[in-house]
Amino acid sequence: MTFDDLKIISPILKALHEKNYSQPTPIQEKAIPLVLDRSDILGTAQTGTGKTAAFALPIIQLIEQIEKEHSHRPTLRALIVTPTRELAIQIGENIELYAKYTSVKHAVIFGGVKQGQQVSALKKGTHILIATPGRLLDLMDQGYLDLSTIKIFVLDEADRMLDMGFIHDIKKLLKLLPRKRQSLFFSATMPPSIKELSSNILTNPRKVEVSPVSSTAETVQQFLYYTNKSSKKDLLRHILKDDKIDQVLLFSRTKHGADRIAKTLKKQNITAAAIHGDKAQNYRQKVLKQFKSGEVRVLVATDIAARGIDIDKLQYVINYDIPDVAETYVHRIGRSGRAGEQGVAISLCEPEENTYVKDIEKLIKRKINLMADNPFPQTDKPMTLQEKKEANREKQKRKQEFFANRKRFR
Ligand code: AMP
Repeated sequence: MTFDDLKIISPILKALHEKNYSQPTPIQEKAIPLVLDRSDILGTAQTGTGKTAAFALPIIQLIEQIEKEHSHRPTLRALIVTPTRELAIQIGENIELYAKYTSVKHAVIFGGVKQGQQVSALKKGTHILIATPGRLLDLMDQGYLDLSTIKIFVLDEADRMLDMGFIHDIKKLLKLLPRKRQSLFFSATMPPSIKELSSNILTNPRKVEVSPVSSTAETVQQFLYYTNKSSKKDLLRHILKDDKIDQVLLFSRTKHGADRIAKTLKKQNITAAAIHGDKAQNYRQKVLKQFKSGEVRVLVATDIAARGIDIDKLQYVINYDIPDVAETYVHRIGRSGRAGEQGVAISLCEPEENTYVKDIEKLIKRKINLMADNPFPQTDKPMTLQEKKEANREKQKRKQEFFANRKRFR
């Protein structure tokens, strides 16, 4: 199957050719014809499957075909709502490339930066708008945006959107969208709350599903170290002695933890940087560039910050802690092993996290390989007072971060 077979028009084909996309990914094969056919879509797919192009290409094509004859100020035709700024920026960058040889214009709006440039972009007019929910509603309230001309609405990463507390924003937004529209709904997981939300948005949707969440795990080699909280630092140092691990995305549950890990690594002369919601947008972009170019070996990220990162051929993922939600583990390790490369995921588990490992193994229906070479194995020693205090502090921090995140990403 080629993009030509999917009836993609030549200006887009030319851009895809330049980007060396030789053939559509499975989700693109399934979704593109349906979107071009004007169907609503309920898509189960996570980042790394090529889902951005799966909705972006046909949207660009439909707009190009509708608007071609009109050369006046672009009319807003498609709205793409996504939970994080990084993801919004990335979708914008992809559309920029795909639409290069068309007349389709796009703009990106997200919170955490001054609104001036975004407002000017809206004033100039755009066909496609990519937005995070908070800033979108904010600019609408200020009267800079009119959604009445929209024909296509995309809700991306719906599960993450709900996790981040955006449900009210989404409900508010739905009331403001034209009823007659095409809607595309994507989520990595489909728990009942997400299905319910989708049923309020979609009309007779066609289902598109690629690699259900638990199966990504099959393409990634997974290893597990049982260790103690106090020895994770040393264990990480031991793991990173292997210079084959030249570029690694390391997950930390908390922002505070991410900063601490990056600091410790730097002290050990390992190039590292932390990215999370408290870091300025410019800083995050800079660090990401350095990571991609190899200047930074270890990128320490929280789940939310990492969600929007797009790195081709990332091979290694390290879980410095074990996520308490099993699906999060699958999302994390899904960041490795892209583009046909075998990925490697290494997890460090302290006693309090043993039950999370059990949950994960249940979800992925397999045992994670135990690392034989473990100089810091888990001991049955009870936690020292110091460790208990530390664990309590972490717990408090996590709580605070959870509540702060709800506000921050508006
Ligand atoms: P996504 O799932 O949209 O985040 O895409 C994951 C990565 O795959 C991105 O780096 C895309 O540029 C890349 N990609 C998307 N579609 C294709 C394709 N048909 N061929 C090769 N790479 C692709």
